[in-house]
Amino acid sequence: MFGIWGHPQASRLTYYALHSLQHRGQEGTGIVVTDGQNMQGRKGEGLVTDIFTVQSMAELKGTAAIGHVRYTIGGCDAGYENVQPLLFRSSTGSLALCHSGNLLNGPELRRQLEEQGSIFQTSSDAEVVAHLIRRSRLPALKEQVKSALALLQGAYAFLLLTEQELIAALDPQGLRPLSLGRLGEAWVIAAESCAFDIIGARFARDVQPGELIIISNQGICSENLSNAPSRNLCAMEYVYFARPDSNLAGINVHTARKELGRQLARECPVEADVVTGVPDSSLSAAIGYAEELRIPYEMGLVKSRYVGRTFIEPSPSLREQGVKLKLSAVRGVVEGKRVALVDDSFVRGTTGRRITRLLKEAGAKEVHLLISSPPIKYPCFYGIDTLSSRELLAANHSIAEITELIGADSLHFLSEEGMRRVLGGGLCMACFTGNYPTSLPKL
Ligand code: AMP
Ligand code: SF4
Repeated sequence: MFGIWGHPQASRLTYYALHSLQHRGQEGTGIVVTDGQNMQGRKGEGLVTDIFTVQSMAELKGTAAIGHVRYTIGGCDAGYENVQPLLFRSSTGSLALCHSGNLLNGPELRRQLEEQGSIFQTSSDAEVVAHLIRRSRLPALKEQVKSALALLQGAYAFLLLTEQELIAALDPQGLRPLSLGRLGEAWVIAAESCAFDIIGARFARDVQPGELIIISNQGICSENLSNAPSRNLCAMEYVYFARPDSNLAGINVHTARKELGRQLARECPVEADVVTGVPDSSLSAAIGYAEELRIPYEMGLVKSRYVGRTFIEPSPSLREQGVKLKLSAVRGVVEGKRVALVDDSFVRGTTGRRITRLLKEAGAKEVHLLISSPPIKYPCFYGIDTLSSRELLAANHSIAEITELIGADSLHFLSEEGMRRVLGGGLCMACFTGNYPTSLPKL
């Protein structure tokens, strides 16, 4: 998500910012812009560069905008209508809205609204929130938004745009990242700080858990809506999701990944001739692992530049194909060698199995798979696509069983304590530990 207020090039800057956030979702993208009088939007299924052209940017005139790239969970909210921002028009003005995360009580709120006569065009939580806002009888938008947010449970970050204001909200547990920045006199808000860098904006601060920020021509104001806010930033942001050049809660993502690799080396040193990482997200951890053990770091795997992130392909068979299309082993590097292969995480085991086989087929003598995070054993309810424990290999098999299944010579994971030591407190680590920072829906 990205939002900007108070800049004559709002749509163009949103385009560049979304481009830098493309790794967070590739299934659809949209921008809504306002000139203070009208609002207009454009959206579509695909990548930012597929949906927006120079001409479409020129048509989206205005001084404020919000934009979104979409990541769907299990493909269940796929389809053009679910591409955000959603734009609602009424006689009292327009409202555009986008979000990231997952509302635990989204289905329940939707059912209640339907019973009261609402009809929905999308399966998105963002539409539920729009209905809650519009149904509020309170006079000011700020109060309407506050009354809607008070009903939400789960992980969310929202951006709302009207002709008069840009509003940002983060859930009281602070699960999703959201930062505030400045570009000259303009305000910018983004899921990751890399979006600020690309447009030359300056990071100001992280949005606080439970915070509501309202930006208008009168300036910026902020309120904390929660009595007991606490930060539980998703640890997988550091491990996999965020871009290495982003800083989350003041920590650079590349540096954090490298330290996770170093910690893994201290916990699980293996005898190897070369260390290699799985491009791109585990390269930092592989460098850290190699540095700590003073083993040469080599490029044992190369990735096609033209294939998106595998996991995001919605169906298992497409995911499998994606992995095949994506990676190749470098025979000259691994042939006859004992390879320490570092990956950042282990979910279904698809990547681990495939790359171990690739390296062995390319002549590696031994392949030791090292994962720079603990095994994922529990589902995520906060908007990351690991919903069912059935799919999580480490939830159902011992390390010895998994080692055999993937065909590696050994398999090692970073410990939970090791991860905490590197990343510090204030994290959600529920998919590793089973300790969820919120109460959970009844399953
Ligand atoms: P798997 O192949 O199912 O074990 O998934 C692990 C691989 O997917 C790792 O190489 C990660 O880089 C990547 N990954 C981990 N978590 C996610 C996620 N939530 N979404 C997309 N990719 C992920
Ligand atoms: Fe992130 Fe895991 Fe927590 Fe989900 S359960 S928010 S993936 S750390």
